[in-house]
Amino acid sequence: MELRKDPITKSWVIVGHPDHAGLPEEPCPLCPGSEAQGETLLYYPNKENWKLRVVPHMRPLYRADGEFARTAEGIYDRMGMLGAHEVVIETRDHSRSLQQMSDDEIKLVLDAWAARLVELKRDRRFKYVTVFKNHGPMAGEEWSHSNSQVSASTFVPRRILYELRAAREWYAEKERCVFCDILRQDVKHKKRIVETIGDYVALCPFASRVPYETWIMPQTHHYLFESATTPENRRDLARLLGRTIRRLSHISDNYHLVLHTAPNTQLTKGELSQYWKTIAGDYHWHIEILPIVEKRSKSYSIKEIYFNAQKPEQAAERLREFNPEL
Ligand SMILES: [Zn+2]
Ligand SMILES: [Zn+2]
Ligand SMILES: [Zn+2]
Repeated sequence: MELRKDPITKSWVIVGHPDHAGLPEEPCPLCPGSEAQGETLLYYPNKENWKLRVVPHMRPLYRADGEFARTAEGIYDRMGMLGAHEVVIETRDHSRSLQQMSDDEIKLVLDAWAARLVELKRDRRFKYVTVFKNHGPMAGEEWSHSNSQVSASTFVPRRILYELRAAREWYAEKERCVFCDILRQDVKHKKRIVETIGDYVALCPFASRVPYETWIMPQTHHYLFESATTPENRRDLARLLGRTIRRLSHISDNYHLVLHTAPNTQLTKGELSQYWKTIAGDYHWHIEILPIVEKRSKSYSIKEIYFNAQKPEQAAERLREFNPEL
């Protein structure tokens, strides 16, 4: 595996990733009893009676001993798979999914995300640290045991790079955060809002890429998830996240979830430097949830254009009607 940089879009592409599909998951490596098989990075609340633990991924995409140096091939750039790849085992119960968890249990998951983000960002080689979750066989989940994954990479993923560029441009022009502008308008108009709890809003974005795409955002501006959320206000976020995925479960049991937060701003040089000047003001962390309601359409993979049959206003209306209670 290696990273290659697209000289036109300047985004990095993983080339030569082996296909792990079909690897056995019996016995489940995430279940209690497998603790001795490897290192545990974090136990909540403690080792003896853990409810959640974080482990290095058994088949990591990125490794701490990966090659950092960039090498050139004529006009092209390539880089090794340096980074970190971790699994947050969200519960010890094999059959319990995130949508079945209490607010307190989901809050523990959010606490673990924040703790790992802070820890991994201490490594200045890592430009970007993110959290994602693939739930359901159609989302490409690796284990049916409820988990989310944390990855640290030496590059900023393409979608984030686009968001960062767009947010910076908006800010340069208007001296306002584009996400705050979206929130202000959509909260006022209500039609794309699914629910608000405390500072947090769940909404179907104006240009949703897939039916029922939902974002969760804080109304108080902050560029970093790990600094903005505190153990106290994470309870509201946990509650809204749980209620939102329960609403979405009426539509599909398969979804991708990804946390979008700012890159590692502790870095002092490199390609990110141009973003730092205004990043605290121009970027706004959020969670994106993309339910999978149908087999991936060919249109995106070929033309990179999204065709979404459903208007987000209708999606939000329908989601509001579903029972979000546990
Ligand atoms: Zn299990
Ligand atoms: Zn903002
Ligand atoms: Zn985003």
